[in-house]
This record gives sequence, structure tokens and C-alpha cells, in this order.
Amino acid sequence: MQPGALVTEIQRFAVNDGPGFRTNVFLKGCPLSCRWCHNPETIAPYPEIYWKRRSCVQCGACLDACPRDAVNAPIHPVEAQKEESTYHKIFRERCDLCMKCVDACRYGALEIVGTELTVNEILDEVERDRPFYDNSGGGMTVSGGEPTAHPEFLAQLIEGARSRGIHICLDTNGYCQWDVLGPLVQSVDMVLYDLKHLDSARHAEMVGAGNELILENLAGILRAGKEIWLRQPIVPDYNDSWEYHVKAAEFLGQLPGRIQRIDLLPFHTWCEDKYSWLGLDWSLRAAEPMDPSMVEILAEAYQARGFAVTAGGSGFEDNAVRGGCRHAP
Ligand code: SF4
Ligand code: SF4
Repeated sequence: MQPGALVTEIQRFAVNDGPGFRTNVFLKGCPLSCRWCHNPETIAPYPEIYWKRRSCVQCGACLDACPRDAVNAPIHPVEAQKEESTYHKIFRERCDLCMKCVDACRYGALEIVGTELTVNEILDEVERDRPFYDNSGGGMTVSGGEPTAHPEFLAQLIEGARSRGIHICLDTNGYCQWDVLGPLVQSVDMVLYDLKHLDSARHAEMVGAGNELILENLAGILRAGKEIWLRQPIVPDYNDSWEYHVKAAEFLGQLPGRIQRIDLLPFHTWCEDKYSWLGLDWSLRAAEPMDPSMVEILAEAYQARGFAVTAGGSGFEDNAVRGGCRHAP
């Protein structure tokens, strides 16, 4: 039997995550925890449960179904709709992910996040859009979470895609030892690579780890001559100053190889509901979304050094798009 990996979504017809039309495969599990993460459901390496507050009619069926008393009791209907309400909090320490509550809910308010799929199951889905890849130069982008957190599965997925003649793009945060990352990079057609902050302490503060390994690996990918698009989430009061980007452009210009494209991804708050559905606090909930026009200004720091730059991965004519993370919703 083939090994599987947890997948949160297979997203068809993506146009910002590599060339042409792409099918993005989001693997669940990430060793980092970026505070602005726009896909919080991809961080934990195990299945989770969404509770969609607005769909819940508070029938209590989930409560009755739970064998571990892990679901909060319904409370006053009006109170339950408040953002700060703990109604339907799932006590994770008691929950064994049996998913009986999800089966019991007849209103679509509970949803399992993370389905185990085999390589062939994923590739069969990816192959559905082969005609679009052929016409557009597209293919499959493996994203996450962090795909290199599943190195054996990822290697098999890449090998399977190669044998089917599918263009492969690896979307990675680079937080992976080179002896694992290097061979994976060599086996794909191109890489999407995250850069969050050049200062390691600032990086650790917002991301959960320093940046040394990530910067070393960036240089390694460039030395290997692999096509690479660099993606920088731009987060207010973190890495959104002109001075920072002048320095970043200088740093990138000195690396040993050519970066084909830089995507500047303005912070947005479209993922707010996901944090709520997972029962998580989001420390940036109150942060203002970035004005995309700010990104155009920052882009000039890179353009002055000859880099090709886009906003949100789509070019400036379409800069009110996703942004904020390499795999925004
Ligand atoms: S079963 Fe569904 S609709 Fe009923 S209380 Fe639970 S989540 Fe809400
Ligand atoms: S998954 Fe199972 S244990 Fe967890 S809250 Fe639902 S019914 Fe209870």
C-alpha cells in the first residue's frame, strides 16, 4: 500500500504559484509558525476540525456525539455568535480526532481539515487539468504547510509527477537541512522560495526560528542554477519600510546566481475566519491590511537593481489580489 500524506486542499487553476495554470497541492504540517500565516490550517501535522460559527444552529448534536466530552456545551444563541465566545470550543487535550462530531453535524458547520491521500490519488487529481498545463506551460505546485516536512512522500510525489510528464514547482520556506532539500530541489523544474526577514532575531520573533538555514539554502539553490521565484510577504511594522527593501535588494543582488522573479505579497486579513474556525487567537487580527500601492513603491528598490518584481504574484495591474503569504487563500 502506498504511503499517504495529509492534504488540506488541491487547488485547481491557480495562476500565481508558478508559470501557467497550476494545480496547487497543500500538504499539512510546517516547522515554522509565521504570525501572519494565511493558512493556519496547514501548520499542525495532524487533522483538525473547523467549526464554522455562522453555519451552526446550535442543535447540540456534536455535543451528544462526542464520546470524550470534548465539545463545549451550547450556550445562549446570541452569545454563541460573538467572536470571543468559547461556545463550541473543542478541548484539544481531550479530543482524539474520532470525528464523530463532524459526522453528527447535519448543517455543515463542522469540517475535517486534512485528508490523507496517496501519491497516485493526488496525481490523478492533478492530471485532470493536463490540457490546461499543456496550453499554458503550467503544472503542479507542491506547497503547504511546508512540503519538505514530508521528504519521503514529497520525493515520491515528484517522481510520480515526472513520470507523468507534469511540470513541478516546489513552494518551500527553506527551513530544511540541505542534505534533504538539495536533492528535492534538483528533482523539480523550479522553486518558489520565501524570504521573510534578513535580520535573524526579527525573523525568529515573527516566524519561530532564525533565518541562517534559510539564507544558506537560498544561496545553495542559486548555486545549483535552479529557476527560482522569491516571495516576500510584506507585513506592517515588520518588513514594510523602504530602507529594509533597499537593503534586501542589495543582499539579493550579491547572491551567487540569478533570481528570475520577486513577488511582493502585501499582508491582508482574509484568513481571519480560518483562525476563528480553528479556535485559535490570531495576534494580527487587528492589523490593517496593506494598501497594495505601498508595494509598488517598495518594488522600485528591486527594479533599480534589475529584478523583475510583481505584487501579489500577479503584476501591478492586478495587485489587489491574494498576497501576504506564498499560498494565500
Ligand atoms: S452539530 Fe453542527 S449545527 Fe449542531 S451544534 Fe454542533 S456544530 Fe452546531
Ligand atoms: S473529534 Fe471526536 S473526540 Fe474530538 S470533539 Fe469531535 S467527537 Fe469529540
